[in-house]
Amino acid sequence: MPELPEAEAARRRIADGVLNRTIQSFALGEISHVELPSEAERAGLTGTQFTRTHRHGKYIFVGSADGPWLHIHLGMAGSIRVTQAGEDTPKYARLSVVFDGGTRLHFRDPRKFGYVRMVPDVDAFIADKGLGPDALGIGGNAFAQAVGGTRGAVKSALLSQKKLAGVGNLWADEALYRVGIDPAVRACDLDAVRIGGLHSAVREILQTVVETGAVYAKLPRDWLIHNREAGVPCTRCAGEITKKTVGGRTSYYCPAHQVAA
Ligand SMILES: [Zn+2]
Repeated sequence: MPELPEAEAARRRIADGVLNRTIQSFALGEISHVELPSEAERAGLTGTQFTRTHRHGKYIFVGSADGPWLHIHLGMAGSIRVTQAGEDTPKYARLSVVFDGGTRLHFRDPRKFGYVRMVPDVDAFIADKGLGPDALGIGGNAFAQAVGGTRGAVKSALLSQKKLAGVGNLWADEALYRVGIDPAVRACDLDAVRIGGLHSAVREILQTVVETGAVYAKLPRDWLIHNREAGVPCTRCAGEITKKTVGGRTSYYCPAHQVAA
């Protein structure tokens, strides 16, 4: 499922590919139930240019200083492609924006859980959703306040989009594995040094995944992502990867080096 790194890779594709080009037209894919901008909204954008992008958690926005913004949510399996004149339309393209010179921006969604809609104001959208600070940009103090102050399991705090936007199951497990924290430990029982280490791990992990363009096969072999299976050897100690449920989510961890304190 696309998480923050996929959304950031998609945002960069948009920023690198289609900004400051005049929108000529839109093309819709086969009839589907995917939510897309209305005919009137598409007509309103035609002849204008996108000049900036924004991402918060896994929510992507492309628009201009005074709006409106096209908001893209990748859902379960959505993705973004940019093609040049003469290139084929990618499979499962639900919406294509056609720019001057034939460059096209495609929203692909084979499973139809994503959507594209118009939002007048990005900040208002984020506030309305109740999203916490973006996980890639959050500072140490804000992280300690958002995650460290909670009485529930640290893994659940990392996954709460209201505390921290953009950390999903995979990268929460990866960060806890790297810093040696049991996913079930109460966040408020972690001292400042461990919370600081967790903050660095979350940011470094997300940054590294973004740099690969969210291609997991390019991630270092000693990461937990390649070893999410009960019984396989831990890459950080002599222990074994184990599976348990924390806050209703399946967690993979190593009980030998991921400890409570
Ligand atoms: Zn271990």
